Amino acid sequence: MKTSIIGYPRVGSLRELKFASEKYFKGEINADELHRTAAELRAAHWQIQQQNNIDFIPSNDFSFYDGLLDTACLLNIVPQRYQALGLTPLETYFAMARGYQGERGDVKALAMKKWFNTNYHYMVPEIDDSTSISLAGTKLFDEFLEAQQQNVKTKPVLIGAFTLLKLAKYTGAKQAADFVQATADTYVAVLSRLNELGAEWIQLDEPQLVTDVSKEDLALFSQLYTRILSAKGSVKVLLQTYFGDVRDGYSELQALPFDGIGIDFVEGKQSLDLVRQFGFGDDKVLFAGVVNGKNIWKNKYKNTLALIQELKGHAKQLVISSSCSLLHVPYSLKHEKKLSEENKLHFSFAEEKLREFAELKSIIAQADPYATDAYIHNEALFNGSRLANNDAVQARLAGLTDADFTRLPAFAERESIQKTKFNLPPLPTTTIGSFPQTADVRANRFSFKKGAITEAQYKQFNFDQIAACVAQQEEIGLDVLVHGEYERNDMVEYFGECLDGFIFTEYAWVQSYGTRCVKPPIVWGDISRSKPMTVEYSAYATSLTDKPVKGMLTGPVTILNWSFPREDISLKTSALQIALAIRDEVLDLEANRIEIIQIDEAALREKLPLRQSDWQAEYLSWAIPAFRLVHSGVKADTQIHTHMCYSQFSDIIRDIDAMDADVITFEASRSDLAIIDAINECGFQTEVGPGVYDIHSPRIPSVDELKQGLARMLDKIDVAKLWVNPDCGLKTRGVNETWASLKHLVQAAKEVRATL
Ligand code: GLN
Ligand code: ZN
Repeated sequence: MKTSIIGYPRVGSLRELKFASEKYFKGEINADELHRTAAELRAAHWQIQQQNNIDFIPSNDFSFYDGLLDTACLLNIVPQRYQALGLTPLETYFAMARGYQGERGDVKALAMKKWFNTNYHYMVPEIDDSTSISLAGTKLFDEFLEAQQQNVKTKPVLIGAFTLLKLAKYTGAKQAADFVQATADTYVAVLSRLNELGAEWIQLDEPQLVTDVSKEDLALFSQLYTRILSAKGSVKVLLQTYFGDVRDGYSELQALPFDGIGIDFVEGKQSLDLVRQFGFGDDKVLFAGVVNGKNIWKNKYKNTLALIQELKGHAKQLVISSSCSLLHVPYSLKHEKKLSEENKLHFSFAEEKLREFAELKSIIAQADPYATDAYIHNEALFNGSRLANNDAVQARLAGLTDADFTRLPAFAERESIQKTKFNLPPLPTTTIGSFPQTADVRANRFSFKKGAITEAQYKQFNFDQIAACVAQQEEIGLDVLVHGEYERNDMVEYFGECLDGFIFTEYAWVQSYGTRCVKPPIVWGDISRSKPMTVEYSAYATSLTDKPVKGMLTGPVTILNWSFPREDISLKTSALQIALAIRDEVLDLEANRIEIIQIDEAALREKLPLRQSDWQAEYLSWAIPAFRLVHSGVKADTQIHTHMCYSQFSDIIRDIDAMDADVITFEASRSDLAIIDAINECGFQTEVGPGVYDIHSPRIPSVDELKQGLARMLDKIDVAKLWVNPDCGLKTRGVNETWASLKHLVQAAKEVRATL
């Protein structure tokens, strides 16, 4: 049985590429030094795959920033404004990735978007009418040759033509269909060059195939590949899919002369049924994604062997593969000094997954795989207890009834009770929660972590920050205040650290975009809250002022979406467990006279299933109730707020209303307030604060432009429902621009109020 890896992480097990790139950006090292670090990492990654007998080792999975950006550059999809800077190819590349501001000009970066259902982001290729798609780069070939020099025969990987054309943004009159010929010809040129170099296989990634694919799109796909495959020569083409199943185009894929098709059996709910029902062509190799490339748990060999056994009955030629690129898991357990041995036994990061492949390969080669030591060990691990259960939490969950998900009285009645109680002016002003995390705020946290200061000193610093922040908010005239979130490193990590059931790592970084990596907590066991997490700081802030101060929490769906989830229980169960813990916090805040509580669900939208038909059944049917469970126990006159990042809500606007919060604020200014139409059209009952200025930029909005934004909102939204606030939290902003912007915001609200 051969083994294949779709892609390997690139930033380095100690984030070497991140640090080298950042030095290069600052001019501390030159391009040669950056290239050297990159080459060392590539060599190390090839070597470790080779050591684990991986048969299909990827090349060109390395990237300085993003694979789709690499693909765009290879195909000459470089907008004129970047070419006009006259920079070196590497500098041009980084200008597209990060923007350029210098002696040669001032251009913004390409847009960035989330890569399917992951927390990785890609750079959106931009195609205009003058774009001439053609083979313009050599990275793919160079890295193949580089590996070859190290005696590693690789399978070059490239984002496929269909996914590229579907994810690109078209800024002129021409659309994807106008670029089919040129794109297909360029892939043909790639294949022909690979033929010259003696490559045996190429992997073309087409994750777009696991989304809702229309008939027209399938036709586009066929058109592209009929041309590409007609000229492939002796190099074999692996069509690689991942993140789901290919139910919309399974027969079409089978009908095309691909040499291999990669199918995800981990996230692809219907993958096995498709193979059962329609079979798998004898002329093709099935690259079966059986080892989860997205999560950190060990592979359960019992299930994997059974799956392989069944697949052998359908496919003549079988290779086992990761379900997707290992880019989405951390590197290695080897640097983790604080994790217990018991925990480590259950985890498998990228390096450990390579070992699993080696082990699976050798087990399968035995006459009786089930009698091998490796199998027996693995089976014992899964049969043993992880001591992760909390009976009280499970009993509480089992006892939930519909009433626990229903807040009473109903919205309209609460709204009028709250209007009377809070007596806020029309267009009340507020912020999203955090204030700038300045260097001294971070230094305080760091000193405490290192043990350089006592807990009392650490807290006193935060109390002082809160006092100053509350005083300043009062002074500029905001109506609903916040404490500023100075104690929080991160909106998920903070709660994960306070809750029982989560585990934290030291080095388990995963690339989010470019040089930015995140270190998601791991959901190890049943989640519970043993003590209040935010009450002390919130109560302190409340004691300082007569104005309402919002308590600030992260919601269950966001906590779960930004963690590595368990695989032995459902996401729904985990979300409800977290919801119960946050619910207890909400009730504690309320008992401590915090009368407005914001429960952030920043990440609610991003884990929507890739196919719309799965949205309700697989996600919203538990995600929305999980949120309702958090706040259903509060009194009618406690006001519940929520906040969401990203404004693409039109398609789930009713579900968001059904969260039954009293007020929702969301990001809107970058999307030109498009959300207000959706709110208007659906009769949204929740009060709303569409962000009136963009906090992702240091720019200070003028009073006039804020007034214009409010005027546009008032055109569509009832004045009794409208709040005034920035787009998102202010933690990444500078102090001066923050207060200047907020002063303008308050001023704009006041001036508009005067005209009502
Ligand atoms: N309350 C959080 C903050 O202000 C919300 C952050 C977010 O939406 N990502 O930072
Ligand atoms: Zn936000």
